[in-house]
Amino acid sequence: MKSGTPVTEDNDQRGGPTRGSTRLWRKGTLIGLHSQSQHSRTLDLKVPGWPGHRPGQHIDVRLTAPDGYSAQRSYSLAAPVDGNSVSITVDLVPSGEVSPYLYAVMEICDELDIRGPIGGWFVWEPGEPEIGDGPVMLIAGGSGVVPLVTMLRAWRQTGDQTPVILAYSLRGPDDLMYGRELNELRAVGVDIRLIYTRTVPDAHRRVAGRLGLDDIAIPATGQRAERVYVCGPAGFVDHATALLCAAGYPDAAIRTERFGPSGAD
Ligand SMILES: Cc1cc2nc3c(=O)[nH]c(=O)nc-3n(C[C@H](O)[C@H](O)[C@H](O)COP(=O)(O)OP(=O)(O)OC[C@H]3O[C@@H](n4cnc5c(N)ncnc54)[C@H](O)[C@@H]3O)c2cc1C
Repeated sequence: MKSGTPVTEDNDQRGGPTRGSTRLWRKGTLIGLHSQSQHSRTLDLKVPGWPGHRPGQHIDVRLTAPDGYSAQRSYSLAAPVDGNSVSITVDLVPSGEVSPYLYAVMEICDELDIRGPIGGWFVWEPGEPEIGDGPVMLIAGGSGVVPLVTMLRAWRQTGDQTPVILAYSLRGPDDLMYGRELNELRAVGVDIRLIYTRTVPDAHRRVAGRLGLDDIAIPATGQRAERVYVCGPAGFVDHATALLCAAGYPDAAIRTERFGPSGAD
């Protein structure tokens, strides 16, 4: 499938930033590709006129075939704002319609249509007064780690001092996205907890199993996070949210983003 339609405005009235320009379909030109795991890669796009975005927001991507058939999917913005640059990280769904094209077919200088940024709730901009001294907890299932890494990059860029915990649930070592970057973030103080659900790498202390109450505990102080962001497949988000409620978190402290129709990493 190729992308070939001009920049247009349609009648999609979904929530998010109120600037009209966020509903425009814009041309994105692929300028960079980076592998992130054995089945995911980051696509860097140049998007003239990009209005900017906040960590946690996403875009719509539209592919259009020569016969006019088009398919559209959402992808989280995979890097903090940087002029006209926009990045997404796509995890391959082998039976899928759009992700195999983004993961394996698109080449440098190819174009696609994008629209956004979208979403105003699942956003963390370091320094928010409501969060105070924190901590902030980020809970990811599978590719749900993408917007959370964008938040961590913004946290690092701004020199924010809020303590941060990332609990990242994945099936096995082959599924680890952003491995090197997570090590760097650990070295600068992020409490990174890898929760392998099926296959555990050598020397990893936690046994394989689903995200549990211990994985989201803050043992040093016994306190709770001021805010928690949960992102991943719908089943995973429901499970994590139930754990947070069991741990005494009020609804107001929890922000969620659901990827795809189902699944529970
Ligand atoms: C707000 C938002 C942000 C998102 N951000 C990202 C992101 O940063 N990176 C990313 O890789 N994806 C992200 N997604 C998921 C993405 O939009 C697509 O759903 C995903 O790439 C699959 O699309 P597809 O066309 O390849 O599969 P489809 O053709 O839509 O689906 C094919 C089959 O796979 C199943 N399926 C669909 N999605 C998934 C999934 N995520 N996991 C397992 N099975 C699935 C379907 O039920 C169907 O049976 C996001 C989704 C939302 C709603």
